[in-house]
Amino acid sequence: MTNHAAPARFSGNFTQQEAIPEDAIEKAIEVMRSGRLHRYNVAEPSEQSETALLEAEFAAYQNQRYALALASGGYAMQTALRAIDIKAGEPVLTNSFTLSPVPGAIDAVGGKPVLIETTSDLVIDLAHLETAAKNTGARVLMLSHMRGHIVDMDAIVSLTKKYNIKLIEDCAHTMGATFDGIKSGCHGDIACFSTQTYKHMNSGEGGFLTTNDDTLMARSIVLSGSYMLYGRHEAGPPAEAFEKIRLQTPNCSGRMDNLRAAILRPQLQALDKNCARWNERFDRIRETLEPCNTIALAQPHVKAREVSSSFQFSIPQFTDTQNEQFLAQCLERGVELKWFGANDPVAYTSRYESWKYIEAENLEQTNQVLHRLYDCRIPLTFSVDDCEQIAQIIVEVAGSTMN
Ligand SMILES: *Cc1c(COP(=O)(O)O)cnc(C)c1O
Repeated sequence: MTNHAAPARFSGNFTQQEAIPEDAIEKAIEVMRSGRLHRYNVAEPSEQSETALLEAEFAAYQNQRYALALASGGYAMQTALRAIDIKAGEPVLTNSFTLSPVPGAIDAVGGKPVLIETTSDLVIDLAHLETAAKNTGARVLMLSHMRGHIVDMDAIVSLTKKYNIKLIEDCAHTMGATFDGIKSGCHGDIACFSTQTYKHMNSGEGGFLTTNDDTLMARSIVLSGSYMLYGRHEAGPPAEAFEKIRLQTPNCSGRMDNLRAAILRPQLQALDKNCARWNERFDRIRETLEPCNTIALAQPHVKAREVSSSFQFSIPQFTDTQNEQFLAQCLERGVELKWFGANDPVAYTSRYESWKYIEAENLEQTNQVLHRLYDCRIPLTFSVDDCEQIAQIIVEVAGSTMN
């Protein structure tokens, strides 16, 4: 460990991801030279497009029968909800602590988000979830593994079975993570992933949907805009699965293209290695923050192996003035924190009260949790020593703010 005398200003950029790997760039150039960017555009019937190959590789990675590559993570969630045939005004249970595309996806398909309380470990509150399941009779839970925190999935699975609820997992922050040795996204009926720049693989925009269910995948493929070319899905169900649904399912175009698929395929090969790099950085941050007893960190579930591509902490004792000072001084030292307690959404830190299109009840516990909750990204362009410096600055500024 390097020994920094009073860490100076941190000079890294919190939104700078790593470059696209060279082998991925070469693949992208090949696709551009071929001119065949559309996923169904193949030179001969035996050719498999980059998108079809990526889907097969992602299905294998997730150990799921089927995978579908899409235009975004938010679109994957909309597709999952449509595949389950959400009706106008139908309640959909979901986390109150999540990112805005989650309630947005529910709203987009005409569903009514029912927001569930958040625990201090930043996961969905199981007791409140059960009450809401009983009271609303909802058929669907859109479970968001927000910021990579994985709730007790054994409890979720038994609860969803008990109330006959379909489980959609939002794995935007858990790609590469596991619960009880099983990949995140394999506990429910459908899982959705994002390959947007700030997630675990980077294609600018993009997403995946995975499932083991023939009908759900057949519907998802047709929904994504397959122009009846569903036979070209290496990671899709057999032709019979499409017979019943092919004319009953609308085309809501949102496919992935071969250019994005080409840059994702090499990244998928490097995913596990990168997850380990994120956790190496997070472990150093945790080690530095943990001894500071004013700082509270979420405790992961014992069965969860999370991928911490960002970290959260709270300092519950801060007054409003101290909170403002803390944020300003961290920023002055080059540490850009996001605060989930702000009244008005700043960048991605919107909180449930700012989704005014939802009729949400007042969620006291969530308000309490978010009140002094801070968030910080860990791009892989930061070294482990950079992370140590960031954490030291946070500890120092928290200490001087308290005094
Ligand atoms: C990013 C994100 C999404 C949606 O992904 P996009 O690809 O940006 O549409 C969904 N849920 C969470 C928690 C996210 O962070």
